[in-house]
Amino acid sequence: MDRVVIVGGGILGTMHAVQARSHGLEVVQLEREAGPRGASVRNFGLVWVSGRAPGAELALAQRARTLWQELGELVPATGFRSHGSLTLVSDDAELALLKEAASLPDAGERGFELLDSAAATEVNPALQGGFAGALYCRRDAIVEPRLVPGALRAHLSAAGGYEWLPGREAVELAPHAVRDHTGTWHRGDLVVLCTGAAHTGIAGPHLAGLERPPVRRVRLQMLQTEPFAGHLTTSVADGDSLRYYPAFDLPGRERLGPQEPVAAAAAAQLLMVQRLDGGLTIGDTHSYAEPFDFDVDEMPYDHLRAKAELLLGTSRPPVRRRWAGVYSQVTGGPALYYRAPVAPGVTLVTGPGGRGMTCSPAIAEETFAA
Ligand SMILES: Cc1cc2nc3c(=O)[nH]c(=O)nc-3n(C[C@H](O)[C@H](O)[C@H](O)COP(=O)(O)OP(=O)(O)OC[C@H]3O[C@@H](n4cnc5c(N)ncnc54)[C@H](O)[C@@H]3O)c2cc1C
Repeated sequence: MDRVVIVGGGILGTMHAVQARSHGLEVVQLEREAGPRGASVRNFGLVWVSGRAPGAELALAQRARTLWQELGELVPATGFRSHGSLTLVSDDAELALLKEAASLPDAGERGFELLDSAAATEVNPALQGGFAGALYCRRDAIVEPRLVPGALRAHLSAAGGYEWLPGREAVELAPHAVRDHTGTWHRGDLVVLCTGAAHTGIAGPHLAGLERPPVRRVRLQMLQTEPFAGHLTTSVADGDSLRYYPAFDLPGRERLGPQEPVAAAAAAQLLMVQRLDGGLTIGDTHSYAEPFDFDVDEMPYDHLRAKAELLLGTSRPPVRRRWAGVYSQVTGGPALYYRAPVAPGVTLVTGPGGRGMTCSPAIAEETFAA
């Protein structure tokens, strides 16, 4: 193999470009927008090992975490930092579930440590609010989602053998080739479609018409504040996150009390990450039923802001921006993402869901290992 054509400028497309270049392959990468505008620049930038299901999902996330660190050392502008995370809980039932997680056989591999509230505040002194205890996950990390694609492209461009073609929408496939909307054909030994949550368009015929759609779309709401005066030494999750992440699918989950109605209605959990400029990225919500709202709903934001203030023990800075994002998620089965050959020499890779930023380097590695 000598030459690879990649469609999509999000994190999956860009990690495929990184991997292809590491195999010495020439790369052309197409993106329909002027730059990536999808889930990859709208996420928290959490490289999240703590919540992964034991087994294959944890292994993929761990491999990806190692690759992220290596890339972060090579390309510091990605903003990679091994800051770990604290999952902060507010009552005995949540604390009991954390204890279960901290005593699992893979707890050491995840860097889990159960902390009382004083010890958690020692790890992250910005947390001056009320909580009953915390799970420290040393293996979790942070990157800067708005910076990563551009930083990796700059790195690839400097080394040569890489061509970035923004403003080119792929509209037609042929064996080992793709045509963009200007009529230009791009040929390679392999074409990789990393078209994200665009489930129509070029990927559409290969996702529709199957007995059961292999992927669905999920919409999330997020916000970012003005710079916060304090310094968060870790990312932060609240007890609601225990309801969603598969690592916490343990007997104690059944004993959790009811979720606050506004959080339950929006399938909300608090995740909070401090950006390099000091701002706090706060989220998230989940909607699964399409058509999705075109506007953002203030109610879950009120809930998430209140939760953040409760844990910080102080008022958070004013909101600078709000947005929604949509990711593609593989449906059912043990698959961690969706990969399918759609024509000779053309492969579609999408559907990593809420673990896509985390797992992207390892997913791309698997494409070229095949
Ligand atoms: C709000 C939010 C928060 C999240 N938080 C996290 C997190 O903290 N950690 C984590 O691990 N994951 C997180 N995720 C999930 C993660 O962001 C996604 O799984 C991941 O970004 C998907 O990457 P992608 O490259 O497949 O898709 P995208 O980022 O959507 O990229 C696809 C690109 O393909 C382009 N494209 C589509 N069709 C064409 C075409 N025909 N021709 C040319 N270009 C095309 C699009 O314009 C787009 O730029 C989050 C997702 C969201 C929405």
